[in-house]
Amino acid sequence: MYLPLSDEARMVADTARRVGERFGLEYWREKDATKSFPTELWQAICDAGLCGVALPETYGGSGLGMVEMALIVEALSEAGGGSTLGQLFMCNPIFGGVSIARFGSEAMKADLLPKLISGEVKFCMALTEPDAGSNSLELTTFAARDGDGWRVNGRKIWITGVDTAQKMLLVARTKKPDEVSRRTDGLSLFLIDVEREGLSSAPIEKLGTNTLSSSNVFFTDVRVEPSELLGELDGGWRQLLDVLNTERIVTTAGLVGAGKLALKLAVEYANQRKVFAGRPIGSYQGLQFPLAQSYAEIECAAVMNNKAAALFDAGLPNGSEANIAKLIAAQGASLATERAMQTLGGMGYAKESHLERLWRDARLFKFAPVSEEMVLNYIATQNLGMPRSY
Ligand SMILES: Cc1cc2nc3c(=O)[nH]c(=O)nc-3n(C[C@H](O)[C@H](O)[C@H](O)COP(=O)(O)OP(=O)(O)OC[C@H]3O[C@@H](n4cnc5c(N)ncnc54)[C@H](O)[C@@H]3O)c2cc1C
Repeated sequence: MYLPLSDEARMVADTARRVGERFGLEYWREKDATKSFPTELWQAICDAGLCGVALPETYGGSGLGMVEMALIVEALSEAGGGSTLGQLFMCNPIFGGVSIARFGSEAMKADLLPKLISGEVKFCMALTEPDAGSNSLELTTFAARDGDGWRVNGRKIWITGVDTAQKMLLVARTKKPDEVSRRTDGLSLFLIDVEREGLSSAPIEKLGTNTLSSSNVFFTDVRVEPSELLGELDGGWRQLLDVLNTERIVTTAGLVGAGKLALKLAVEYANQRKVFAGRPIGSYQGLQFPLAQSYAEIECAAVMNNKAAALFDAGLPNGSEANIAKLIAAQGASLATERAMQTLGGMGYAKESHLERLWRDARLFKFAPVSEEMVLNYIATQNLGMPRSY
């Protein structure tokens, strides 16, 4: 299955490419070096209507789908941003947009979707905890009843974009594990303000994806209003699963773009760099084969991602496809950036070649937002019908 692109899809992808190229590689090098949020680019993305591509027209979106969103992320990533572009979309139109559009109250949609689409409000998502990563259901952050609302206590880790976001999608327990018959029950989603009494955060020093900070977040008696519950009380896990596949799709799209960009930079260099006998190093099979292999891997990930997105847009199950695409894309982009860096020799290690940034950033996605081992566990149990090993 691979759907030929519609005219609309081509148009939004072209717009994204043009927006991305207005900023380009040097913009990203500077933002990475100064660890700054790409404010100007994000505003340009919103101004071009790209943030709202998959959100309902009633609230200012374009009413298209994940196929188009994936193409946008891929184009912006390939134009210079690299794989971290997927995170920008993950935090905003996915965890902000898709979750509100699917599960939000009418008031929440009317208030927040237009502000998300215009870039006025940014989002982050808080699921992971120090003792609940791959094993998310072990999370202990608790929202206890407090009159008509709740009070939250607990701690989250690695929360991306919290210091530039105004809103947080928070996943918390609303029932203790011994009060529910299934571990997937008793969890709820809340959409709260980041600026709130009792909520604080501290960034973590990390290897890459420097333009988006990732932080420890602490909740001490944080008041949550009744209007901030997103969807069903105690039924948040099922809702979250619904959104997580779209998270995989934008992650994969960012990785596909990063892989393509790394290969382009490597080929440009290899075709002009002469080392022995006046021949370009690009003429050696020893350098061609790894790049050709990476090209094949990235193309396969892109096609699988298109399938996942098309299934999602058709309202059909897409978990397998989204997970498989993400697995192959993370491995493919890690290898593509590594092989591209090898192609440039010493220059691949220089900041000015941009490859070291693409390599550092792509590495993250072999274990986040879901690790390759957990995807393989999923494939073994769900696709192959093997017993669960853990
Ligand atoms: C830069 C960054 C940004 C992030 N942003 C966010 C964010 O915005 N919001 C958020 O909620 N979270 C975020 N995360 C968290 C991310 O989703 C987790 O790091 C990821 O889910 C893995 O969890 P963990 O780090 O606790 O690893 P662990 O769960 O401790 O796993 C460690 C290793 O053990 C392996 N493993 C565990 N169980 C099994 C098993 N059964 N079989 C085989 N192998 C296994 C894993 O695959 C992994 O390799 C971010 C993480 C990073 C590093």
